[in-house]
Amino acid sequence: MKGRTYVATGNACKLCAPFGACMALRGIEGCIPLIHGSQGCATYIRRYGISHFREPLDIASSNFTEAAAIFGGRDILFTALDNVSRSYKPAAIGVTSTCLSETIGEDVPRYLRQYEAERQDQAPLPLLFYASTPSYRGTHTDGFHEAIWAVLSTLIGTREDRPVQGSEGTRVNLISSFVSTEDLRELHSILRSFEAPYTLIPDYSESLDGPSWETYQKLPEGGTKLADIRAMADAVGTLYLGYPPGKDGGQWLWENHGIPLTRLELPIGIENTDRFFEALATLTGREIPEPWQKQRGRLIDAYIDGHKYGSGKRAILYGEEDLVAALASFLDEIGVIPIIAATGRAGSGFAQRIQQALKNTPAEEPLIMDDADFISILERAKTLEADFIMGHSKGLYLSRELGIPLVRCGFPIHDRIGGQRLLHLGYRGTLNLFDLLCNTLLQAKQDQVSKGYTYL
Ligand code: SF4
Repeated sequence: MKGRTYVATGNACKLCAPFGACMALRGIEGCIPLIHGSQGCATYIRRYGISHFREPLDIASSNFTEAAAIFGGRDILFTALDNVSRSYKPAAIGVTSTCLSETIGEDVPRYLRQYEAERQDQAPLPLLFYASTPSYRGTHTDGFHEAIWAVLSTLIGTREDRPVQGSEGTRVNLISSFVSTEDLRELHSILRSFEAPYTLIPDYSESLDGPSWETYQKLPEGGTKLADIRAMADAVGTLYLGYPPGKDGGQWLWENHGIPLTRLELPIGIENTDRFFEALATLTGREIPEPWQKQRGRLIDAYIDGHKYGSGKRAILYGEEDLVAALASFLDEIGVIPIIAATGRAGSGFAQRIQQALKNTPAEEPLIMDDADFISILERAKTLEADFIMGHSKGLYLSRELGIPLVRCGFPIHDRIGGQRLLHLGYRGTLNLFDLLCNTLLQAKQDQVSKGYTYL
């Protein structure tokens, strides 16, 4: 970021790329992620995920040693693949690289081809996906989308690899950016209501947020079914929620199977959600079902009821670029002024997306920061008189330093229960965020009055 007076990152506003890949891979049926790198990387990912999802999260590791870092990790990767296959009996293993294995130039795709050739007598082998995820080059967003691309390109293959299937006529593909498990359940609910076959990928709504178990399950149920992924090549179209910064599964489906691609911002706020429903109606050839239209009406009603609490307030937004862009649009339509919109990833059209989202915000706002960390956000925020900040729980210290409330959303939420169940998407999700925002502001105001008040 321009203007920095230091070279190190201070409290990063991003997560590591293999982390994002692991989350997407846990959303594939019968798939277990395997980190080709050190134990520490896998432990960090497990720790970070468990604290948010409150679920066991098995992430395998090839467990790099000093010797592997010098001579290469082919043998330890083979051992890890053998161990994971034997212990978990997975349908698929999603291998991701790390900073270390990328730095020493590991040729993992070649290793995986060799592994499959050497173990062909041990069939059936699990499917092997590979996502290249050097974290010094990208963030968890890159890893998430790269893993989706890896699954699609490996499982579906090119047009030449597939017998002609023939279109089912109405199948819809929905590829989602990194959202909460409750968001995924909402997307299922919306898709089902259009009564057309669909594939939602990835889908960790069950595998990372299932019911309690009587006995431990090594591989939790859930995930996008492999058959449904294969069927994506026969869909009438793909809707992609979010903008992949690198490898792009939606573009891959278009280039290899001619499936038309529509990119959309995350459906947060009325405008973004309207676009999402309209795109679904167009693809399926069906009317938007009445219950959603009623929800839209209730959301507008809520905007009217609560506008005086949020309108004119000044907000700092930070986090993953897809979420920040969608939140900017939502805040703009309820009259909140985003004065900082920050993300930890550099480039990828973030500034343009924020500017497009803001139709009512004064032209001089907001300060758009990419490649940002929390030190740089704090430095800039000190002079800007914000009323609240909105983002994940790593913004707590920012909130304390500035003395303004934090509206928690996105990932991670490590200091509250229920982060994985927070609904952001659709009319219902927007309503949820609106209530959360207004009530956080009301609470802050109430806390400033010594006597307090019980009537608004
Ligand atoms: S070393 Fe790289 S891959 Fe491993 S946890 Fe750190 S950022 Fe992630």
